[in-house]
Amino acid sequence: MARLVLKFGGTSVGDIDRIRNVARHVKREVDAGHHVAVVVSAMSGKTNELVGWCRQSSPIHDAREYDAVVASGEQVTAGLLAITLQAMGVNARSWQGWQIPIRTDGSHGAARIQEIDASEIVRRFEGEGQVAVVAGFQGIAPDNRIATLGRGGSDTSAVAIAAAIAADRCDIYTDVDGVYTTDPRIEPKARRMAKISFEEMLEMASLGAKVLQVRSVELAMVHKVRTFVRSSFIDPDAPGMDDFDNPPGTLICDEDEIVEQQVVTGIAYSKDEAQISLRRVEDRPGVAAAIFGPLADAGVNVDMIVQNISESGDATDMTFTVPAGDLAKATAILEAAKAEMRYDSLQSESGLTKVSVIGIGMRSHTGVAATAFKSLAARSINIKAITTSEIKISILIDGDYTELAVRALHGVYGLDKA
Ligand code: ADP
Ligand code: ASP
Ligand code: MG
Repeated sequence: MARLVLKFGGTSVGDIDRIRNVARHVKREVDAGHHVAVVVSAMSGKTNELVGWCRQSSPIHDAREYDAVVASGEQVTAGLLAITLQAMGVNARSWQGWQIPIRTDGSHGAARIQEIDASEIVRRFEGEGQVAVVAGFQGIAPDNRIATLGRGGSDTSAVAIAAAIAADRCDIYTDVDGVYTTDPRIEPKARRMAKISFEEMLEMASLGAKVLQVRSVELAMVHKVRTFVRSSFIDPDAPGMDDFDNPPGTLICDEDEIVEQQVVTGIAYSKDEAQISLRRVEDRPGVAAAIFGPLADAGVNVDMIVQNISESGDATDMTFTVPAGDLAKATAILEAAKAEMRYDSLQSESGLTKVSVIGIGMRSHTGVAATAFKSLAARSINIKAITTSEIKISILIDGDYTELAVRALHGVYGLDKA
């Protein structure tokens, strides 16, 4: 008998028929004799609607009330799945974050899980074989109010619960049957990977592949949670679906578990980036701190930073990216502090995309970046900024070329060939 966590995303619980389908996946595992905790997202589109209502009520709003509103989507699906399971004869009950409790820090809207007391859930596993249906995306903050974990946060709820109950496996069920070499919606030639390392998955997720929330990958890596990404749309009773060690999907695992390591593993992209350039910034110690300090204080996530060498020796240009949604806020801060920051002018551009090439093999292979640049040049795609790390290269381009660039890079590293 094993302990399993099964997480179902928004599309998988999109309507009552789909919730019934999810219940069949759960029942299959219960019938096999396993103890099961299920984590559910809100129905697809629900969280966007709730976020929209908060913004309509007031563009600037109390993050604690935002959490009270947006956490409600998961409450509904948890209750509906428990009802459906009960109707199928499966002993189940729903849990909201605060009832368990899942304790978070106080960063409303983007809270981090700090502690989970799963003892009651485990007691009910052992005592009556009860399935716990947990509302994802939410917990309770130190101020005793509901907190949400940031968009895509149900993945993190699932992995955190898996760690808390020492689950044998955490299955992230979604609308694709695993992690692909790139987003299969953009490149139909993308291939599903049987395994991907934690490090590469972390990069893929933080560079835009939304199949897993970044924090969930971190937790899986730290707590060694055996995590699979798999499809809820395959018939729950299809052959192989109950394979305990190798269920159909992608395993996120340690690097050494992967025998055939490719140089490049995947391509990720993140749309809606904006670029800000400050012209003729004074070239003296402390200038970067004066610019980026206030942006950090305001919670603006600054990403690619390029500082040019100053020709004259006294002034330089500073260029960096921020999420397009933060552009207005960032510009307002920079303009207000123009006198202290001492720059001549500010230019900005939105509608940009960051495409990234990811692979652990880059540590030991040269020429990966040059290949990307050549491939984009051949398609006349202009590069606006570049950043690299040991296992990734990120390139900023005009958003209109997103699909073209992703497909070009996917092809040039042979990712479309088995
Ligand atoms: P859920 O609602 O189940 O949490 P998400 O929409 O958050 O699902 O994540 C699944 C989506 O992630 C897929 O539909 C796919 O379009 C997208 N995606 C982006 N990059 C990848 C990738 N490399 N592999 C698989 N899916 C990806
Ligand atoms: N419903 C939340 C969202 O859309 C959490 C999740 O689905 O993971 O962000
Ligand atoms: Mg998701």
